[in-house]
Amino acid sequence: MGLTSASVGIKAVDSGLKIKKQNNNDFIVAIAGNPNVGKSTLFNNLTGMNQHTGNWPGKTVANAQGYCKTSNYGYVLVDIPGTYSLMAHSAEEEVARNFICFGRPDATVVVCDATCLERNLNLVLQTIEISNKTIVCVNLLDEAKRKKISIDLKALSDILGVPVVGTIARKKKTLDNLMHQLDCLVDGRTLTKPHVIEYEETIENAISVLEPAIVNAVGDTVSPRWLALKLLDYDQSLIKEINNYFEFDLLSEKGVSEALKQAQNILSQNGFDKERFKDSIVASIVRTAEQTAKQVVMQKGDGYNSVDRRIDRILTSKWMGYPVMLLMLAVIFWITITGANYPSQILSDILFKGQQLLSDLFIKAGAPDWLHGALVLGVYRVLAWVVSVMLPPMAIFFPLFTLLEDVGYLPRVAYNLDRPFKKCKACGKQALSMCMGFGCNAAGVVGCRIIDSPRERLIAILTNNFVPCNGRFPAMITIITMFFIGSVGMFDSVLSALALTLVIMLGIAVTFIMSRFLSETLLKGVPSSFTLELPPYRRPQVIKVIIRSVFDRTLFVLGRAVAVAAPAGLIIWLMANITVGDLSILNHCAYFLDPFARLLGMDGVILMAFILGFPANEIVVPIIIMAYMAQGSIVELDNIVQMKQLFVENGWTWITAANVILFSLLHWPCSTTVLTVHKETGSLKWTAVSILLPTLTGMVVCFLFTQIARLFV
Ligand code: GDP
Repeated sequence: MGLTSASVGIKAVDSGLKIKKQNNNDFIVAIAGNPNVGKSTLFNNLTGMNQHTGNWPGKTVANAQGYCKTSNYGYVLVDIPGTYSLMAHSAEEEVARNFICFGRPDATVVVCDATCLERNLNLVLQTIEISNKTIVCVNLLDEAKRKKISIDLKALSDILGVPVVGTIARKKKTLDNLMHQLDCLVDGRTLTKPHVIEYEETIENAISVLEPAIVNAVGDTVSPRWLALKLLDYDQSLIKEINNYFEFDLLSEKGVSEALKQAQNILSQNGFDKERFKDSIVASIVRTAEQTAKQVVMQKGDGYNSVDRRIDRILTSKWMGYPVMLLMLAVIFWITITGANYPSQILSDILFKGQQLLSDLFIKAGAPDWLHGALVLGVYRVLAWVVSVMLPPMAIFFPLFTLLEDVGYLPRVAYNLDRPFKKCKACGKQALSMCMGFGCNAAGVVGCRIIDSPRERLIAILTNNFVPCNGRFPAMITIITMFFIGSVGMFDSVLSALALTLVIMLGIAVTFIMSRFLSETLLKGVPSSFTLELPPYRRPQVIKVIIRSVFDRTLFVLGRAVAVAAPAGLIIWLMANITVGDLSILNHCAYFLDPFARLLGMDGVILMAFILGFPANEIVVPIIIMAYMAQGSIVELDNIVQMKQLFVENGWTWITAANVILFSLLHWPCSTTVLTVHKETGSLKWTAVSILLPTLTGMVVCFLFTQIARLFV
């Protein structure tokens, strides 16, 4: 058949992944499990990698792989998306199912949550139906203990007929036994005899007709009993996968198609239509899970979740839900703003002293003026700005946000926002992709994969840009502090935080309006129903969260900004210093844009800065400053008062400032986000919509705001 585990299965859905073995005799292991059971934690601890972990379902949407070794063997671990079943109701389930069925892993580890084993057993039972090379890993044993739940792992293993190990994925040592069991399973020291789920008699009769025909046609490389069930279920997309896998049409095989007809007759004669067949299969699996759990799970008292439930009663209540959410956001902003001020100033002092040193060095070395200008006043100065303005708030904001995520608060946000999203005919999970957008809109757009309905997913993608990413926060905070807060002393930061929260609320309101607008126009449809799982609250791993968010997020975003800011600094310096006629290129462009920009309550320089900031929003304010400085008299600029002075000299009023904030919130996405939208939607049309929608919104809002505000001055 010529298929390798490298190419099959994942290719259909997740073309990005090719299995990379280090040695030919390495084994491939799939890590499966429900969402939020510790798969990524286990994967990271075994491979030493940094897959994103977080306390909410659906964050892993594609397969990731890593390498680990025992003293005997090497393993390629594949972390597949969390799913509750393998019936392929959603994109994640399809990726997971395809990998387990057709990716030919040498073993599959199903990670389970010990605190709710019964629900997890559904997936275990479906997995062992497909693959006898399965290990069940009962994780979160520490939480179970805390909730006074104990599990008889030996009995569970006897019932399931496959190895069962208990782990605490956060503690690496507890994973040794898992690896030992894996060694024994792949080299045949452990033989399994997976439990066979018993279905209703009619279904069993149908299977017994079809199964031998399948064995005749394709042998037993893929479980023939499972294939029989799937053919009876007649799931078109799966049958396509099956045919791809065998590289011929299984149903064109005479023996199989005849047996299938016969088996279908048995079903229909006994009153089984498609629905009843499906229901009966699911009911049998659920019943088996229930019976198994009953035999192995011991629970003292009602322990489970009573504290969680009490907290949830407040955090998701009708009256308290929203205020707590907003308060939480405002507090995060406040901590970010207050905390960032001081280090920002220190960084700026150091970096601008560095500029002085560099300038001296250039002069001493007799470097020509243009070289000094381009490298020091252009590249270095913009870099210094971006680093000193962006780094401190990011280094504070990201860890705080990640902590909320780790504790399990984000799914509560999605839960609270589900109703308004439904009213806008969109999906509550959109709230989670918006949360990711706070960090980076490109990440937010990828995060929309957690939404199953293509229509709702597209709505979430197109509106993600209405939450400002970290590249836009610092500029907003600076301008708010400069023009709207000013001289109230110690309350400055509180007011700034509240003002920023208002801006975010506006972004959220626009998201709702635009989601509804899209649902009524380009993307008509009814909202799909989904049940959002509220995962248990978990004690966050503070140190890990901080390290992870600094390295994975902060430095990543900063690196990207710096990579863009350096060449941008050079280009802007050249534009400001190369003259055509009497004016610099920069002035020409600014003059050209000026009349239109004035309609929006800004000026040509600002609009040009937004345009030049397309590669990364972080550089918009530095461009404005450079452009004004090239035109004006101020050459030293090392604090916010001087910055305000520079802006005011260039005609800024509070209306200009408000428009810059509004336009920053509502304009085209940055280039990385646009590319990501294109990649995710595969459509130029939707990419164009993702640019036009926020841009036109921003223009209309700024225009109206300016006209109205001018009435009052
Ligand atoms: P995934 O969705 O299955 O990949 O789950 P994650 O690995 O992202 O874990 C979800 C949350 O559970 C994270 O906050 C983890 O730190 C936490 N977690 C994972 N394993 C354990 C464990 O064994 N004990 C405890 N207390 N927490 C765990």
